[in-house]
Amino acid sequence: MVAQVIDGKAFAAKVRAQVADQVAKLKEENGITPGLAVVLVGEDPASQVYVRSKGKQTVEVGMNSYEHKLDADTSEDDLLALIDKLNNDPAVHGILVQLPLPKHLNEDLVINSIDPAKDVDGFHISNVGLLGTGQKSMVPCTPLGCLMMLRDYHGSLSGMDAVVIGRSNIVGKPMAQLLLGDSCTVTIAHSRTKDLPDVVRRADIVVAAVGRPEMVPGDWIKEGATVIDVGINRIERDGKNKLVGDVDYASAAERAGAITPVPGGVGPMTIACLLANTLTACCRSNGLPEPEGLTA
Ligand code: NDP
Repeated sequence: MVAQVIDGKAFAAKVRAQVADQVAKLKEENGITPGLAVVLVGEDPASQVYVRSKGKQTVEVGMNSYEHKLDADTSEDDLLALIDKLNNDPAVHGILVQLPLPKHLNEDLVINSIDPAKDVDGFHISNVGLLGTGQKSMVPCTPLGCLMMLRDYHGSLSGMDAVVIGRSNIVGKPMAQLLLGDSCTVTIAHSRTKDLPDVVRRADIVVAAVGRPEMVPGDWIKEGATVIDVGINRIERDGKNKLVGDVDYASAAERAGAITPVPGGVGPMTIACLLANTLTACCRSNGLPEPEGLTA
């Protein structure tokens, strides 16, 4: 079997086009422009690239982008004061604090100071609780993107065996909650899981979110399974820098029914889902119907 490639780049472009359509409608019919505020503390080069890309794509779909760049030695009080200001600003519908924060800042405290209704990353403890209890919440962008691709490919996920490798708060755990919400039978695997190959071999859906280059070989994949590779790992091969996932793409593509590539799979969906979440937050805060197909 040669797997169908799930093209995250094309899918993300479709999501962004849907968001742009809805934003245009909101402006025309309601005079509202959704706004996303992104806060960056310090000068981490990777974070700077992400923030630039988020700002650019926000503007491209017709939303307002507010970038707040703070010095690396910004005090917790000053950061909390900025978040308080953004929480109370009616032009701001979504707030994202770029992680990781410099060591002297308490990430949990900062994230939990964001108004949960504006928490477009879905990391606030209230949103985590709402997701865990199957209530309407803001859903973390990366798992939301994975869910959208799975739903698009399969239609219903009901009754499927899914394994999520990785139990982080930003990917693994919310991914497992979303799959459970869609009635999959879910196993969460991690570094202490016994006989991981056997666990993966039983799964109809494999979501790999580990951060270890190509650790899942093709012979762990059940024939015809769907493989979603969240991992982004920079390696050097044949003297060149290369991005690879957590799955060994070449061998897995020979057994899977469908697979996301790295790059061009889950990655582009993350920012598209951030824009979708900002639109959702804007609609909710204005008592308007939520955009269809862009939420969990
Ligand atoms: P974390 O480091 O927070 O979590 C990694 C998880 O993998 C942990 O739960 C860990 O288990 C588990 N793990 C580590 N080694 C093994 C092993 N040998 N076998 C099984 N499980 C193992 O990572 P993140 O969740 O933040 O990110 C995971 C990957 O996804 C990274 O490559 C990251 O770059 C990528 N990523 C991609 C995004 C995108 O937009 N596409 C967005 C976010 C992340 P334990 O808990 O026991 O330590």
